Amino acid sequence: KNRVYTIGEALIDFIPNEIGVSLKDVVGFKRVMGGAPSNVAIAVSKLKGNSTFISKVGEDAFGSYIIDKLKEFKVDTSWVYKTNKAKTGLAFVSLKDDGQRDFSFYRNPSADMLLSEEEVEDINLKQGDILHFCSVDLIDAPVKKAHKRLIEKALKTKTLISFDPNVRLPLWESSKSCLDAIREFVPYAHILKISDEELNFITGIEDNEQAIKSLFIGNVEWVIYTLGSKGSLIVTKDNKRFEFPGFDVNACDTTGAGDAFVGALLFKLLAKSMNILSLKNIIEEDLKEIFRFCNAYAALTTTKNGAVDAMHTMEETIEFMENLS
Ligand code: ATP
Repeated sequence: KNRVYTIGEALIDFIPNEIGVSLKDVVGFKRVMGGAPSNVAIAVSKLKGNSTFISKVGEDAFGSYIIDKLKEFKVDTSWVYKTNKAKTGLAFVSLKDDGQRDFSFYRNPSADMLLSEEEVEDINLKQGDILHFCSVDLIDAPVKKAHKRLIEKALKTKTLISFDPNVRLPLWESSKSCLDAIREFVPYAHILKISDEELNFITGIEDNEQAIKSLFIGNVEWVIYTLGSKGSLIVTKDNKRFEFPGFDVNACDTTGAGDAFVGALLFKLLAKSMNILSLKNIIEEDLKEIFRFCNAYAALTTTKNGAVDAMHTMEETIEFMENLS
């Protein structure tokens, strides 16, 4: 059976009980599982696709919580290592009234950063599988080499590669180091997902159309540009553009909407046994069906608090879409 493999950070987010308070003044926090790659694995699994998460956590209570949570969602955890050399990464978050967030990260280094290339050596990717990664763990640490090794294996086996940079600048020494890492990995991906706020930062180009064009380097076949409530735009290597409007929902928390979107997309590509050639040859009708589903799935997650606990099932998504039409 084919599966989606996601690699990268698994963290505990401490989200504030009070909103509109600066981080220094938050009194109470709630612990939730965080990290974009694990959110994507959970979305795929919620939709009843096979997913494996590849990472490392500390031999501590938070590491055990992450593994329990992944298992609860039926994500394969065989490649989640435990170490006593570092603790599970933590992030404390405050939420301002305007929805802006402040972060304080405890990651010096965190366990996920210690995942080594040797530890991913025995993962057998095959054609029909999908490998997905983000940028947080492209930091200068052993885990960056683990990404490279897996990508090498994916290229050899014609596994589809997906990259959602998910920029988190406070985790980097400088914005240049973040940018360099993202630009180094863009050419490996067949599918690149960029959000509205990231496009100009990553490309350094003001004009959106030119910016998107500049991303077609190396393997890149599809650039998917997400626009929050406005939906998403996909551009293909041969410069075809398709826009898919967002769904009108009562959004209360958009955390993880991007991850839900990617999870829904990878689930669809997996279910359709897509490969690199079928990405190139996809017809408009199929694109429409896929991206309408992704927009619906992501919109639905914004109607519930949190990221992981807001992921819906296939039945709930179909019901939501049917009630609209
Ligand atoms: P994240 O906050 O998880 O990093 P992102 O910035 O990567 O998200 P967005 O562009 O905000 O990604 O959202 C991804 C997708 O989620 C959108 O393309 C859209 O389909 C859906 N979405 C996000 N916000 C809303 C909303 N308020 N209403 C309806 N759909 C939404």
